[in-house]
Amino acid sequence: MLIIGAHLSISKGFEHIAQEALSIGANTFQFFTRNPRGGKAKDLDSNDLIQFRSTCQKHDIPICLAHAPYTINPAAENPQTRSFAEQTLKEDLSRMEQISKNQLYNFHPGSHVGQGIEQGISLITEILNRIIKPEQTTTLLLETMSGKGSEIGSRFEEIQEIINRIQIPEHIGVCLDTCHVYSAGYDIVSNLEAVLEEFDKIIGLNRLKAIHLNDSLTPFNSHKDRHAKIGEGSIGADALLHLVSHPLLKNIPFYLETPNDLQGWAQEIAFFREKTQ
Ligand code: FE
Ligand code: FE
Ligand code: ZN
Repeated sequence: MLIIGAHLSISKGFEHIAQEALSIGANTFQFFTRNPRGGKAKDLDSNDLIQFRSTCQKHDIPICLAHAPYTINPAAENPQTRSFAEQTLKEDLSRMEQISKNQLYNFHPGSHVGQGIEQGISLITEILNRIIKPEQTTTLLLETMSGKGSEIGSRFEEIQEIINRIQIPEHIGVCLDTCHVYSAGYDIVSNLEAVLEEFDKIIGLNRLKAIHLNDSLTPFNSHKDRHAKIGEGSIGADALLHLVSHPLLKNIPFYLETPNDLQGWAQEIAFFREKTQ
């Protein structure tokens, strides 16, 4: 069965988010671990988590994906900015173990802000090597980026370079964002096979653990990051459907980050479920 969901708000707790996911036909969901712009995470409620885990089991929600606040920058030049990023990632990873075992946690690799890609990658891996623990059950995902500004991770080679330098690589994976890769110049519309081949050759498809399923408001290779509803952007519904149905991507969870309300996501999920049956 297709594993598909959307980005939902965690403000009313985990049981609520699971019910909300089910109400839109989803069997997974993504959530921000805290306010997307940063700030303190809410305390975890153990009763809420017990209910949540039982709902996931009962209704076959096999996995969920947490998203780090997008304002943190592990590649920043300022040591305080980096140490804030490290603290946030570390805290979030420990919370993930309390929420539920064997889940996914996605973050944006960071922006080198003029220091150069090489230096940015060194700073990111320094932090990752301090926070990844052998005993953790959460898989940390590097998100593929569009390459706006000085973002690292818009080329598969950059992602691989980060993974190469991780001392405990068992807990690291990749989340491919369809809007970002298309904006970064990977043509998933006219040549999906070649893009997947390249991903496999450079990173390895075994590292691909999640897909952000978005259309793009801006054209191919624009290095912008503007998500569109499915079928309302430059990628189009057909190309996204083709991707969702691709045999190499079977069993990978898909997450809509389209500008929608619950009803809009319900429609998009229904569309992909119908067409992939
Ligand atoms: Fe993201
Ligand atoms: Fe994304
Ligand atoms: Zn994006």
